[in-house]
Amino acid sequence: MCGIVGYIGAEEAAPILINGLRRLEYRGYDSAGIAIGGDNVTVIKEKGRIDNLQKSVDASCPSGHWGIGHTRWATHGIPDKCNAHPHTSQNGTVTLVHNGIIENYLEIKTDLTTLGYTFKSDTDTEVIAQLFDYLYDGDAVGTMIKVSNRLEGSYAAALLVKGHEDRIFAMKKDSPLIVGRGKGENYLASDIPALLPYTKDCYIVNDNEFIELSCDDIKVYSKTGAQKKAEIKKIELSIDSAEKGGYSYFMEKEIYEQPSAVKNTVSPLIRNGKINLPFQFPENFIKNLKRIYIVACGSAYHVGMTAKYIIEDMARIPVETDIASEFRYRNPIIGKGDLCIFISQSGETADTLASLREAKNRGVFTLSVVNVMFSTIARESDGVIYTNAGAEIAVATTKAFSAQLGVSYILAAYLAHEKGLLSDAQLEAFTREISELPEKIAASLKTDEITAKLAGHISRQEHIFFIGRGIDYPLCLEGSLKLKEISYIHCEGYGAGELKHGTISLIEDGTVVAAVATDDALLGKMISNIREVRSRGAYVLAVVKEGTEGIEDIADEVIYIPSASRYLTPSLTVVPLQLLAFHATVERGCDVDKPRNLAKSVTVE
Ligand code: GLU
Repeated sequence: MCGIVGYIGAEEAAPILINGLRRLEYRGYDSAGIAIGGDNVTVIKEKGRIDNLQKSVDASCPSGHWGIGHTRWATHGIPDKCNAHPHTSQNGTVTLVHNGIIENYLEIKTDLTTLGYTFKSDTDTEVIAQLFDYLYDGDAVGTMIKVSNRLEGSYAAALLVKGHEDRIFAMKKDSPLIVGRGKGENYLASDIPALLPYTKDCYIVNDNEFIELSCDDIKVYSKTGAQKKAEIKKIELSIDSAEKGGYSYFMEKEIYEQPSAVKNTVSPLIRNGKINLPFQFPENFIKNLKRIYIVACGSAYHVGMTAKYIIEDMARIPVETDIASEFRYRNPIIGKGDLCIFISQSGETADTLASLREAKNRGVFTLSVVNVMFSTIARESDGVIYTNAGAEIAVATTKAFSAQLGVSYILAAYLAHEKGLLSDAQLEAFTREISELPEKIAASLKTDEITAKLAGHISRQEHIFFIGRGIDYPLCLEGSLKLKEISYIHCEGYGAGELKHGTISLIEDGTVVAAVATDDALLGKMISNIREVRSRGAYVLAVVKEGTEGIEDIADEVIYIPSASRYLTPSLTVVPLQLLAFHATVERGCDVDKPRNLAKSVTVE
């Protein structure tokens, strides 16, 4: 969470920093600030969005050719101007921005207070500045190393240090940080979109590395203080994916990008009717595979639940799904011979990363499904499948979710084929269907019209329930999460059969129940569940495949999606659920792309 930027070069730094922060605003947006270097460091910060900061910057026009910036997602201290970054040490030795959490900040703060330091903010971040000040001996890199030895927790920090007026320093552990290399100028950022207008050459900073940036040099140091070579990589991402391209909202654009996101993800994985994985399992691994764990957070967890239904059914391998924040602390029974799959759009999700490390320590083969190239989860896994969805900017995921579903189908088919449960011909037929999916998703986008029409009614609700069975159940959880996270309407997703074990008591006259019923084998059961809620006064909105009969008589509204085989239908079901959330949120006047209290990549626990 939070976005960090840095610039050093011949240009005026302030506009470049603000532009970078705008591109990272999805990562946190409760306050923002910049510091422009020079003999005297100028700090400007404001509560709220980058627009507020821009106004203050325009008013004071700070001039300087290097600086750092931050857009915050508060963890310690309320989101106000005082707690906004950058923070300066009391003697002005250092001014810094930080992403992460310093877990032992209270202990350090107490020690420093005893030594005469006074603190101006409630943040954990300020202790890094004051500790640096206390330990500073003129050697900026050496002092960062000493500071890091005392810190517990996660940090990516960028620093302006007195006495090194033409430098930016940085340090990193467990929070992302990238250096961008330009010509006679260099950049720092938490994520690639901030660099895209300027450079495609980047250095991905590793944990426990220390950076010294000047206009024409990138120096990387290890924890011993030894200098390392900075291996520059080329970013394969176009600037278009980080811009709205004619749409009013990123979420809307990303919903419409789903056909191409899925196509770009699955096409490289299919070759001549066979699955072409970009990594290799150890020999005889699949033959002896007894159990799979899928670990993820939020929407990615819903992909994992969907994958469980498909993999278990097709490949007959037991799959356990776990929320990463639970998995990492529950001493899971895993070991050599098991497969753990980690799903994360950003590849930096703190709990998913910690779970991956836990699994690796226990000798498990780890596979990650990740959207951001070179991200930590991708780099640390034994195998990685990239979802080539392009940069996803809206906080609520849509196209990355669909791309992750695409990978799930591929994996299920691969495992079933390896286990001899899917013949060559069946595999070929299934991969053909997967290849046709982007067109069907495009057809499912036609539900835009009916969902827009329904949005007014939906937007006036206080509570909405989503019910479904089988493979529709995780889609109900996703539809419910999507709507609640951006519209702030209270939503719950339920297995339709589970409703009568408590929650049905909440159904009263007019309560909206979205009933997702795409599985022919379970349609009869769903019809009974719809009747149950209807007879208690519910207003039922059904989502079914085209050609489904008998639903119009019992539902108030019906959304038809294109038909596809049962395993692939989730990709079509999710589209109207996303559109419904989108339109209802626009109708309520809420911030579609940046919902309150949230941030895009959750890099803190
Ligand atoms: N923990 C720091 C704070 O609350 C940094 C938060 C962030 O990563 O934005 O200020």
